[in-house]
Amino acid sequence: MRPRIVVVGSSNTDLVVAVPQIPAPGQTVLGGTLQTIPGGKGANQAVAAARLGGDVRFIARLGDDAYGAAARANFAAEGLDTHFVLTTPGVASGVALIAVESTTGENSIVVAPGANAKLRAADIAAASPAFDKAAVIVISLEIPDDAVFAAVEAGHARGIPVLLNPAPARHLPGDILRKLAVLTPNQSELAQLGGSEALLAQGVAALVTTLGAQGARLEQLNAPTEHFPAPVVTALDTVAAGDCFTGALAVELARGQSLPAAIRFACAAAALKVTRIGAQPGLPYRDEVLDVL
Ligand code: ADP
Repeated sequence: MRPRIVVVGSSNTDLVVAVPQIPAPGQTVLGGTLQTIPGGKGANQAVAAARLGGDVRFIARLGDDAYGAAARANFAAEGLDTHFVLTTPGVASGVALIAVESTTGENSIVVAPGANAKLRAADIAAASPAFDKAAVIVISLEIPDDAVFAAVEAGHARGIPVLLNPAPARHLPGDILRKLAVLTPNQSELAQLGGSEALLAQGVAALVTTLGAQGARLEQLNAPTEHFPAPVVTALDTVAAGDCFTGALAVELARGQSLPAAIRFACAAAALKVTRIGAQPGLPYRDEVLDVL
């Protein structure tokens, strides 16, 4: 039984070039061969959830260009329900221009949100049938606030648990925070949102903070903090590690697992991701995670 999961968020195409050094302003550097890799936080989370056993409906906007067409074909190949992936005429699809320094692994990224910025509250309202029989809703922040808030309300009104990945971090009103089942920041996002105590005081039901190679931490009001170590691996590419974690957590919660069990599964899934290159290409499948566990 594949539990139904609705993912609301962005889709980007990552255009990646390895460079000997990140160019300074005004400088031109010659890099390696261009790699065109499917990415974007929403799409990464949707593909992660599908590979890990979810029946995933993705709500997003693409442009009417070649990147959008390729992204749509990729979603179909990954088995996502693309009925609510909308095409925006006359707008470019989301793109991330990424230069990666070969020696240090440091990167420099320019995101052109394009059609992601056109996903609005009216789209969430029009996608109302998408939420039928959903077990969990997953939302990230590479889309406008009104779409985020409408998606949170859609879940709350239907009694569907909402998992929000606050990336990239920005202020979230208390009225939204108290309607979340789970918030999944990384450490820098947690700091930008004011820290654990403030978030729990504002009514976040469960705060799951990802700690990179240190694993993850679960905090709930009136419950002891729990720590979950990450499996020890050789990290090759941490891009989309947090997206993999969030997608995995959603699948396990949708399957009726407890939060601690879901976090253990998510740590194993994200550890596999960091051993592989590329955002979506590196996302693991359910059998692979079960082998690790
Ligand atoms: P983000 O990718 O959003 O910056 P983190 O760096 O916290 O978030 O990574 C998300 C999750 O990926 C972690 O909670 C952990 O489970 C896994 N992870 C990240 N880096 C490593 C690593 N070096 N070894 C094992 N797991 C890792």
